[in-house]
Amino acid sequence: MTPSSQAIRSLAVMTSGGDAPGMNAAIRAVVRRAISRGLKVYGIRRGWLGAVEGGDAIVAMDWDSVGGILQRGGTILGTARCRRFRTREGRRQAAVNLYTQDIDALVVIGGDGSLTGALILQDEWPGLLQEAADAGEVILHEDPPRPLRIVGLPGSIDNDTYGSDMSIGADTALHRIVTAADQLTSTASAHQRTFIVEVMGRNCGYLALAGGLASGAHWVIIPEEGLDARWHQRMVKSLLRGRQAGRQHALVIMAEGARHPDGLPLEADIVKGLLEKQLGETRITVLGHVQRGGSPSAFDRILSMILGAAAVDYLLDTKDPQPVMMGLRENQVVATPLHDVIENSRKIVAMVDAGDYTTALQLRGVSFRSQLQVLKTLTAPGPMQELNQGNLLILTAGHDAPGMNAAVRVATRMAMDRGFRVLGGEYGFEGLLEGRIRELRWMDVTGWASRGGSELGTSFYTLQEQDLVTLEKVLTSHEISHMLIIGGTSVYRNANLILSRLHAHPRLRMPTVLVPATINNNVPGTDFAIGADTALNNIVQAVDKLKDTAAANKRLFIVQVMGYHSGFLAVMAGLASGAEDVFIPEEGISLDQIVEQVKKLRVSFARGRRLSIIILNEEVSKTYDIHMIQRIMEREGGDLFDVRSIILGHIQRGGAPTPFDRILAARLASSAVETLASADWDASPVRVVGLRGNQIRSESLESALTEMAWPLERPKDAWFMEYLELVRTLEI
Ligand code: ADP
Repeated sequence: MTPSSQAIRSLAVMTSGGDAPGMNAAIRAVVRRAISRGLKVYGIRRGWLGAVEGGDAIVAMDWDSVGGILQRGGTILGTARCRRFRTREGRRQAAVNLYTQDIDALVVIGGDGSLTGALILQDEWPGLLQEAADAGEVILHEDPPRPLRIVGLPGSIDNDTYGSDMSIGADTALHRIVTAADQLTSTASAHQRTFIVEVMGRNCGYLALAGGLASGAHWVIIPEEGLDARWHQRMVKSLLRGRQAGRQHALVIMAEGARHPDGLPLEADIVKGLLEKQLGETRITVLGHVQRGGSPSAFDRILSMILGAAAVDYLLDTKDPQPVMMGLRENQVVATPLHDVIENSRKIVAMVDAGDYTTALQLRGVSFRSQLQVLKTLTAPGPMQELNQGNLLILTAGHDAPGMNAAVRVATRMAMDRGFRVLGGEYGFEGLLEGRIRELRWMDVTGWASRGGSELGTSFYTLQEQDLVTLEKVLTSHEISHMLIIGGTSVYRNANLILSRLHAHPRLRMPTVLVPATINNNVPGTDFAIGADTALNNIVQAVDKLKDTAAANKRLFIVQVMGYHSGFLAVMAGLASGAEDVFIPEEGISLDQIVEQVKKLRVSFARGRRLSIIILNEEVSKTYDIHMIQRIMEREGGDLFDVRSIILGHIQRGGAPTPFDRILAARLASSAVETLASADWDASPVRVVGLRGNQIRSESLESALTEMAWPLERPKDAWFMEYLELVRTLEI
């Protein structure tokens, strides 16, 4: 066997550079996956500094050493910046320390800098060890020594790492930004104030852009967009026009790395000076380290776990010794050579430095550019052209979902920008049949980005054949020419009925686009529906609180979540909260399974476990409902643990939408308007827009419905099912 093809035996994990929420979830996944695959695992404290120092900084990790850390911000291993590691002497010391502990492989969680260090160490490894052997610092067991295997994970709140659509920590940072912006907006509008919020991102405008889009900011300044000499005049003019149109406040979000047209740093104070002259009182809020802090969002926990487990699998299953970084691209785990990651991540910085903003924006990718485009239209204070393209009806229907308002806001403004007159239908299909329609103007939707529920009102109503005559009358009397309907499965069902009766009701034939919005995420044509991420975060936060109450007792919590016939919420919440198991409708549940589960729980509680969580979907079984399962487990668990059942109910739907849901709403709604304005409408009058990977696509309703598993109303091959095994192998 050549050295490179030998299997690894032990692995070390470290976090390095700037800390990011979610790093703990990644450490936990690496440690537990590695243990369950038979590897010895070490943790290196304080990143490269610990590798150089060795000794106590390299600690053996076991299953329990990563228990209870999923919801904690920061990193239990600590992180540091290390100058010595930048020298060959420092790296030689690190190589000696790793080699003497028999560490074959490293999982490095960090940003560009940390991953660059990893690449250099890997490259120099044989040479460093040889030098150390010659100097008598180490005895080599093999000649040449086997290569050091390295897998990186993108850990950076800035989201500036090439090779992953999102880096660990970025989503949580967005949560902090959006919460702060929402709070500032409420105080700013009370005083007609202008607020400047400076967010992190030395070279990357992602947080400013996505934070601006999600919070409904009125102007955004990012490093990737070159400012010309007159930029501030345009900014002031736009904000003034907004005020004249009735806006009570203004919110400007800028990245810390924003630059003047000459390339020098643009300070928030300068922007404040420019605004104050024309708009009066202006305040600066620098969010700083608040963005790094606190408990990771559901997405960051899930991303970290998926990538952490994938890193270990890659090290064991791929014999290619080339260092890679695991990332999530288009909703798939992808390994990218570390060399490419570093080269491309740096290229963008170099382009911004050189003032080549076009290339920098190009390298950021389609989704970044399209978000920028949407933001530009939304921040304009009024429509660009006459409203002569027809009357667009916007409806929110079915159960409400957080993010519906954000979608209506964006759709209204994008549609007006495209020349549509916009009408809002109140209370879904039921209200529509009663003719409850009102005009929506540009300023009517101000502030809707952050509001939960549905401002238009919604209702759960299944259209009947006989309703179609009334529907035709209402739509005709308001001269509706286009429709945009936001909602879940009931919307799909109603639209399908309309589609199948067009021959009898020809006036219902008009360009119609469905925008998926349901916390259950059980609609076809999209990987994610608006509202699902908020529900997931609501569940995860509730389970975190339950965990705190359990500290003193040995306790099993059975938590029932929504989802209807889809296990999406249960599986993803199970992953993000470290559940022992999930019971989902895709698998069903039997008495044997429940008994099997109790046996496992008895063993683990007898061994000292203090807390366990099982997540149960609401529709999993009519016979074995949550109370029945609780009774069985209580009876069979005996004195070993007590059992509590919690039905989360409507709390899951509540609260302000998460940044992900707001951004998804903005992207889907703007694409829906594009589709209405430009698609070939002869083929099929009803289309669905959805997020596939990281692209927004539109397809006919007929084609989307082929993905449905009738009559259960859930997608046939749901992508999240592949994470079920991960829930069951990582546990609390
Ligand atoms: P981040 O990983 O968040 O980008 P830094 O850029 O500060 O953070 O890098 C973290 C650490 O990685 C540094 O303190 C240093 O130890 C190591 N490192 C960064 N760049 C290099 C390099 N070019 N060569 C060797 N080590 C490096």
